[in-house]
Amino acid sequence: MLKISTGFLLGICIGLIFGPSAEVLKPLGDIFLKLLKMSVVPLILLTIIVSINNSNPKELGRIGGKIFPYYIITTALAVFMGIGIAKLISPGVGLSMPKNSSIEVPEAPSLIDVLLQIIPSNIFESFANGNILSIVFLSIIVGFAINFMRHSNEKQTKEWGNLLLKFMEAGSEVVFRILNGILQYAPIGVLGITATTIGTQGLDTLSALAKYVGASYLGVGIQMVVVFPIILLLFKVPVIKFFVNTREAIVTAFVTSSSLATLPVTIKSALKAGISDRVANFTLPVGATVNMNGSAIHFGVGVVFAADIIGYDLSVGAIIAIILTGTLAAIGTAGVPGAGLIGMSIVFTQAGLPIEIVGLTAGVNVITDMVFTTCNVTGDIVGAAVVDKSEEKHTLSLVEDKDIAQTSISK
Ligand code: ASP
Repeated sequence: MLKISTGFLLGICIGLIFGPSAEVLKPLGDIFLKLLKMSVVPLILLTIIVSINNSNPKELGRIGGKIFPYYIITTALAVFMGIGIAKLISPGVGLSMPKNSSIEVPEAPSLIDVLLQIIPSNIFESFANGNILSIVFLSIIVGFAINFMRHSNEKQTKEWGNLLLKFMEAGSEVVFRILNGILQYAPIGVLGITATTIGTQGLDTLSALAKYVGASYLGVGIQMVVVFPIILLLFKVPVIKFFVNTREAIVTAFVTSSSLATLPVTIKSALKAGISDRVANFTLPVGATVNMNGSAIHFGVGVVFAADIIGYDLSVGAIIAIILTGTLAAIGTAGVPGAGLIGMSIVFTQAGLPIEIVGLTAGVNVITDMVFTTCNVTGDIVGAAVVDKSEEKHTLSLVEDKDIAQTSISK
């Protein structure tokens, strides 16, 4: 971690001193990102399949039954908070759309399309296109199928199930070994990315959209220092220790702007924070693709920003609809840099807001994406910590039940 922080700080200094010419260091960062991305698909596929098989089908339903409501509730609250903070700051007031601006707007698929795309019609296409949500979907159903085979009453089916699992376990060991090697390179990669971003974006970019950026940072700040600590405290997770142990994932998310690229570091940090690998390996790959608290704040702030620009008063009904679409769009947002712009286009389309404003914010997305991703990744680990705590209680109560039963038998 010390090495990654040093890379980060050195990168800032180089970026500030050399400005745009710091871009010569970009390939160093690109190498790091490519290596991480290379390992993401096998990592997701194998860790989800293996972790689904770490528990019996009943226990699995219990973990899923806890983590999914957590994701949905915290995401909806985050959209709401984004709206509230932007309402206070009114980032778009005084700003108008640039005339004839040739803004590149990402094409917005309809919400139902986004959800339907999760089910692959051709699994090879999903792998080739790196369609992560489809790969998560596939991994979950394959994991369940193998788990059911292993718990079958037929001897042959059971054997095949166990054989398949062994194969997957061996594969995931290979991936983890490769990842360990990649992480050795992380400090240099982080230096390259930081120097390039600071050097080329500078602080000028903030001028016109400063309030928008400010609202985004404030929203994420509140989520990080108020909401997450409250959730952790509610579940009796020591807050400071949690953040100290997960800082490596937090910094990596900040510099890569990608939950998925950060995933290997996220898992490592979660284990360091004492979260059991059973919970971490199942919830974190899923969380990196579906749980986006930061992106949800992004959508909330963005909607108010756009409404301010066009002078549109958001009614309570409109806000409720935005929370709903914002939550679904956040779930559908991929954990890669800039993906939030596409999610935002979906929300804008549903809310009837001009999609050009998404393009307007795209210029500062590099700066905001960093904090949104940090918040996304922290939210994933907070979720894993909360579920892990409740699992502890469950294990404890099972042990206690057993003790009581034994005591009463011996009596
Ligand atoms: N970059 C974000 C992430 O990877 C997604 C987004 O753009 O909102 O978590």
